[in-house]
Amino acid sequence: MENYENGNTFQCDMCLFKCISYYRLMQHYIRNHKQDPYFRITCVQPGCGATFKKWKSFRQHLFRKHPTASPTLNEVTQQIEDENQLTRTKKNYRKLFKKTIKKLLRKLLKSIEKP
Ligand SMILES: [Zn+2]
Ligand SMILES: [Zn+2]
Repeated sequence: MENYENGNTFQCDMCLFKCISYYRLMQHYIRNHKQDPYFRITCVQPGCGATFKKWKSFRQHLFRKHPTASPTLNEVTQQIEDENQLTRTKKNYRKLFKKTIKKLLRKLLKSIEKP
């Protein structure tokens, strides 16, 4: 909080992570702490400082009280969700690829075994 007013650094409430961009801080929270059972976040918007124990409540707060900061959060969330989606798709492709190769190999082996 004080950091925000002193110089433009943002600090994570849950670890020693520090950065100079709000976007990066949100990215950090989503990636590292969103699922944490001891989740804690302080709203770093000027003159606010409200704390939240749930990511959802924080999101709601930002949406209602700081509509100007809210798009950033949406953007970060979207970006991270897209990344996750991409990793999932890649994994699925790899699985599908392995399956297809196995099938082909089996077919090939069978055809060779046949007299
Ligand atoms: Zn952290
Ligand atoms: Zn706030």
